[in-house]
Amino acid sequence: MENCVFCKIMAGEIPSQTVYEDDEMVIFRDAAPIAPVHLLCVPREHFAHLDEMDDRRAALLGRMFLKIAALQNQLGLEGGYRLVINQGENAGQTVQHLHIHILGGKTLPWG
Ligand code: 5GP
Ligand code: ZN
Repeated sequence: MENCVFCKIMAGEIPSQTVYEDDEMVIFRDAAPIAPVHLLCVPREHFAHLDEMDDRRAALLGRMFLKIAALQNQLGLEGGYRLVINQGENAGQTVQHLHIHILGGKTLPWG
């Protein structure tokens, strides 16, 4: 989608440090990391919110979770990790293209 930073990254128009990609998702490093490992898992298909999900997109999201779990050692997440999906203004969602934050590399504070 036009003017979407993640669509531009996946189109190669904005550089990123990609650590995994296939025909339906990309994992790249967050430009402003808040943990030693801070990655974003992004579906190639543009949609913003979980309430836009249907069964097909739900299956895609499931495969994203499976892929993250399969790659955890390779991504430097051996000690555990946190997944976050910010939804809407109150959560501070700034990019309107659904994405999973992957946080790890240290003991993460909670609350
Ligand atoms: P949100 O606040 O929407 O949940 O998360 C958006 C994330 O995208 C932020 O953590 C922000 O640092 C990251 N981000 C925004 N623009 C870029 C960019 O151009 N490249 C990369 N790698 N990350 C970005
Ligand atoms: Zn997009």
